[in-house]
Amino acid sequence: MVRTFQLRVSLKEETIEGILTKKAAKHVGADEKDIVVKVLRKSIDARKPRIYINYKLQVYINEKPSEIPEYVFDYKDVSKAKEVHIIGFGPAGMWAALRCLELGFKPIVLERGKNVKDRRRDLKAINQEHIVGEDSNYCFGEGGAGTYSDGKLYTRSIKRGDVRRIFESLVHHGATEQILIDAHPHIGTNKLPKIVQNIREAILSHGGEIHFDTRVVDFTLQNNKIKAIQLQNGIEMAVNRVILATGHSARDIYYLLHKKEIALEAKSFAMGVRVEHPQHIIDSIQYHCSGSRNELLPAASYSLVAQVKNRGVYSFCMCPGGFIVPAATAPGEVVVNGMSPSKRNNLYANSGIVVEINADEDLRKYEKHGVLKGLEFQKDLERLAFTAGGRTQAAPAQRMTDFVEGKLSADLNATSYQPGLKSVPMHSLLPKLIGSRLRGGFAAFGEKMKGYYTAEANIVGVESRTSSPVNIPRKENLEHPEIQGLFPCGEGGGYAGGIVSAAMDGERCAEAAIAGL
Ligand code: FAD
Repeated sequence: MVRTFQLRVSLKEETIEGILTKKAAKHVGADEKDIVVKVLRKSIDARKPRIYINYKLQVYINEKPSEIPEYVFDYKDVSKAKEVHIIGFGPAGMWAALRCLELGFKPIVLERGKNVKDRRRDLKAINQEHIVGEDSNYCFGEGGAGTYSDGKLYTRSIKRGDVRRIFESLVHHGATEQILIDAHPHIGTNKLPKIVQNIREAILSHGGEIHFDTRVVDFTLQNNKIKAIQLQNGIEMAVNRVILATGHSARDIYYLLHKKEIALEAKSFAMGVRVEHPQHIIDSIQYHCSGSRNELLPAASYSLVAQVKNRGVYSFCMCPGGFIVPAATAPGEVVVNGMSPSKRNNLYANSGIVVEINADEDLRKYEKHGVLKGLEFQKDLERLAFTAGGRTQAAPAQRMTDFVEGKLSADLNATSYQPGLKSVPMHSLLPKLIGSRLRGGFAAFGEKMKGYYTAEANIVGVESRTSSPVNIPRKENLEHPEIQGLFPCGEGGGYAGGIVSAAMDGERCAEAAIAGL
């Protein structure tokens, strides 16, 4: 017999060896030796001072669990198979390529950036020398924005695909099985490069191709069908099906499509700042403790949302025990984002706090840019941050309380952001539509989480790349409505908002591109 049920375990009980088996045996009224316990889900309940760990268990009573895996990834030898071209090797491009292998088609991937190892040098140059490479940075290169990301795997896109399949695929390529049971699965920036490398090896060893340092600069169209793509080295490649998975930072691709009069749409998105607290403040609020948190508990996170002047203000990509990183993709701009290692053991907690930007109502001053109005607004804010920060990768910052009270910070709190911070009056620099709502948001968050609103937190600008400000339309069969053979995909198309949703969209686009080949 198999039974599935929830059990809760106190932090004290959690230290007792075999506690789950003991409790499960009692729950089902069986002998410990007659049961096998499988953990399906694990989450922390810290709503009250007495903290519990909640487990969802599957218990086999006098029965052995099935050993047949639920998910099998059967990659074919595709060296002589029909080709699908994939532009961009972020999560969308990677999972599109893997799906091609499963379906027996040959993925040919074109990626402007370098492989994960060589890319690391360029990240060092951004952090230490303030040099931003336009093809190799935190967003561009093998694994895309997902490689040196935080690796949180939560997604709101459950309806859009099989989330579990992506998790299983990540485990297949080297992620820990823990992601299959954690309520808030996280891989960590230190572990992602190896997984990305394993995915690359799977693609190459099955006959797929991946070309790094290969930026796509143009498309050749004939009778509204994509016929060829041009690379920055002058090479032209004949193509039949193209998955365009270039991410939301590939502005040159949006400009190219616009110049070629290929339909695009303006999309609502969100922008704001990144907030950094000492981790112990967030721990003490969330875990109701005064000193350091219980060692069984991970660095605490939070999720906040408020409605201010008809727009949502919310936390985005919260990174407990993490770092703020410079995520610009071109010189002359400052963009911040966040990440954390698998142990989440850094001293700071950071999170984007962003304001919804309504493409129809908030960008009237940018109307002349048509469908690219959001992109131009985003660029202006990033340039502003660059200038305010002192024209390096140092980021403009202010103490949270000074920002709300409208005064320049005499000094700033220590930070994890390597290029450094510069104290500036963010309250007067940020456009009103963002600044005034952030002020309202921080006040509301301080009410929801006592201690969150504090002079010990910095706000750091700007968090501008939360999602794409442009949507590349597609038909029901996922093909662009005007261009036969072109399949807009992932975050750059406006169809994903994170690693998992981009990966699921990559799989879907591969299936769509292959249909009828
Ligand atoms: P991308 O990952 O942006 O990949 C696009 C790829 O296309 C890039 O590799 C780029 O080099 C390539 N490309 C662009 N233009 C061209 C061209 N012209 N020719 C050839 N190649 C091109 N998401 C989460 O779910 N959880 C997190 O914890 C998380 N943390 C993040 C932390 C940071 C620091 C960053 C930057 C992002 C984070 N994200 C996180 C977001 C996540 O990484 C993205 O949502 C995801 O990577 C989008 O996948 P994608 O494949 O659609 O696009």
